Amino acid sequence: MSSRIDLHTHSRASDGTQSPTELMEAAAAAGLDVVGLTDHDSFAGWDEAAVAAGRAGVALVRGIEISARYDGLGVHLLAYLPDPTHPPLVAALARILDGRTSRMPAVVARLRAIGIEITEADVAAEAGDSVATGRPHIADALVRLGVVADRDEAFARYLSAGRPGYVDRYAADLGDMVGLVVAAGGVPVIAHPWGRGNDLASLGEEQLDGLAARGLAGLEVDHQDHDDAARVSLRGIARNLDLVVTGSSDHHGAGKVGHDLGCNTTAPEELERLLDLARVSGGG
Ligand code: AMP
Ligand code: ZN
Ligand code: FE
Ligand code: FE
Repeated sequence: MSSRIDLHTHSRASDGTQSPTELMEAAAAAGLDVVGLTDHDSFAGWDEAAVAAGRAGVALVRGIEISARYDGLGVHLLAYLPDPTHPPLVAALARILDGRTSRMPAVVARLRAIGIEITEADVAAEAGDSVATGRPHIADALVRLGVVADRDEAFARYLSAGRPGYVDRYAADLGDMVGLVVAAGGVPVIAHPWGRGNDLASLGEEQLDGLAARGLAGLEVDHQDHDDAARVSLRGIARNLDLVVTGSSDHHGAGKVGHDLGCNTTAPEELERLLDLARVSGGG
């Protein structure tokens, strides 16, 4: 039996454009058997997704994607099956969500200062059901106002580091978060390790070995941010460090082009390893 497994997707609980129900229905329609819901820093979509997954006939893997920082660089940490009531984890996520939302007035002010007639209400309208307001929602507001054509253009022109609308925000320390996820019974996997801004030099085997010593369990190797050469290198590092290898779409609905559900997948035996680790760790 072959099984199609996509372990990293986003709903409107963070910055995806589909409700958890729509996302699970789309996953079934795309022929997926297993789908991981990994909204940024929030469990808010889990309950709705579980009901919808049952109806749609897909297996849900509950996860989150945590906004962390390593040596000054942004790194995203996937956490599978953590206890969503674990108080230190809940507190850490609340701090991240607050940092994301609380910088919004400053971003709007910076954009207005360069002549863009955007308001905080415009951004709030795009955030809708999301538990926090992030840059993708500002991007959506800029699209709606006709300032840019899509999210990518909004980031490239206004929202990425160094662009006029950029305002830094709090992110958790990566090593601390790895430990916290394990303490919460979850399985920590680094999302797109060599995606935006990071590479072999900043997050190579030595650094990953140090994180493995703190409980890091896996690497998301098959991701659209990685070319073939990066995937080969990361797979080799995962083998050397005995880390689980995952693959995913990082689907955001209409919010990210080229990230269709199932465009990358995880091997069934790798998912088994991940679920075994969750059982040992107390999650699942
Ligand atoms: P924030 O946490 O508010 O700083 O927003 C970060 C989120 O914006 C990331 O998790 C991505 O989903 C999205 N993002 C970051 N960079 C880009 C980019 N260059 N193009 C499109 N989306 C991006
Ligand atoms: Zn996102
Ligand atoms: Fe990410
Ligand atoms: Fe993601």
